[in-house]
Amino acid sequence: MKKEILFSPGPTNVPSEILLEGAKRTIHHRTKAFTAMLEKAEKGLAGAFDTKGDVYILTSSGSGGMETAVVNFLSRNDNVLILNTGAFGRRWANIVKAYGIMADVLEYPWGESFKLRDVEAKLKDKKYKAVLCQLGETSTGTVNDIKALGGIMPKDTLLIVDAVSSLMTEEFHMDKWNVDICVSGSQKGLMMPPGLAFIALRKGLDAELGKGDLPSFYFSLVHAKASREKGQTPWTPAVNLIYQLNKALEMLKEEGLDNVIQRHKDMASIARKTVVEMGLELFSSAPSNGITAVKVPEGMDGSKLIEHICEKYGVRFANGQREYKGKIIRIAHMGYVTVPDILMALNCLWLGLKKYGFKARPGAIITALETAAGLDNK
Ligand SMILES: *Cc1c(COP(=O)(O)O)cnc(C)c1O
Repeated sequence: MKKEILFSPGPTNVPSEILLEGAKRTIHHRTKAFTAMLEKAEKGLAGAFDTKGDVYILTSSGSGGMETAVVNFLSRNDNVLILNTGAFGRRWANIVKAYGIMADVLEYPWGESFKLRDVEAKLKDKKYKAVLCQLGETSTGTVNDIKALGGIMPKDTLLIVDAVSSLMTEEFHMDKWNVDICVSGSQKGLMMPPGLAFIALRKGLDAELGKGDLPSFYFSLVHAKASREKGQTPWTPAVNLIYQLNKALEMLKEEGLDNVIQRHKDMASIARKTVVEMGLELFSSAPSNGITAVKVPEGMDGSKLIEHICEKYGVRFANGQREYKGKIIRIAHMGYVTVPDILMALNCLWLGLKKYGFKARPGAIITALETAAGLDNK
């Protein structure tokens, strides 16, 4: 028997309470009942983003949310600054390129977060319409300091943040941190199936809708705003995913949003201490709460190790992306993951490493337990 548990940074494990919501009978969306559930979800999400602004729910994966930010708020002759700290920073660059927007890219080696003084220098040098970046860079398990970045943003430059994998795993306060636009998705920290993207706009920013000159249709928030005012979406919404979203938001609220973040911090702390004790090296110099990336030991094929651990134990870690395939292991502990889950996953990592000839110190498992025990005494 194989019981697969996801330790991948999307999709993540979906609790049965949420799965069952998806099995409810689909209602028609041009109804009062749908409006009520949509508005409830929008309100819950605004709490998660910590904004007084509006949140739009899109039927797409997270990248659709990123594209929505671009097509609605940028124009052809704009200059933008991209803070590229990995595969998803590169995605911002690819999206703006597809629309012919001029971008300066501050590119960092994978595993590093952006440096504020570089951004400051760029902002002094040139006037940008927007700065685009990630709160959590999933490809490297790195967190960026959005709070500090928000503190140095010029008044008329938009701060556009991708928090697809970091909403509900990292501390984040959209309004307080001066973020104008933030994007997230359903299949990561929100412990839902894939299929929804969310875009939150700072209060008042919707007045800018329709002023840009980029082509858009499905992702045009001009349509979405007009519908939103009637408690609707412009196109057929993913009704069952919205049932699930409300359940997820309810569960997160019940745990307490601060406690959710703390749980992620705790799991990250167990994972980091344990892998280091095993004799592995962390990949990121600014590791995130939702995902721990570790370097594969010299001479070992990381892809084989990851496949073996999944085949044998049903524990699915994620491989490195692009040039880091086979070179790093990404242990995601985001969403529906608890302390016992991460302890189990680390045990399986230990077993896998042993199988491939790496002598991970057995004391590492005790370190995992003692770190977990220490959490209770805080
Ligand atoms: C997952 C993810 C996305 C979106 O990916 P989709 O596959 O389109 O959902 C964007 N940014 C980050 C940081 C992500 O982790």
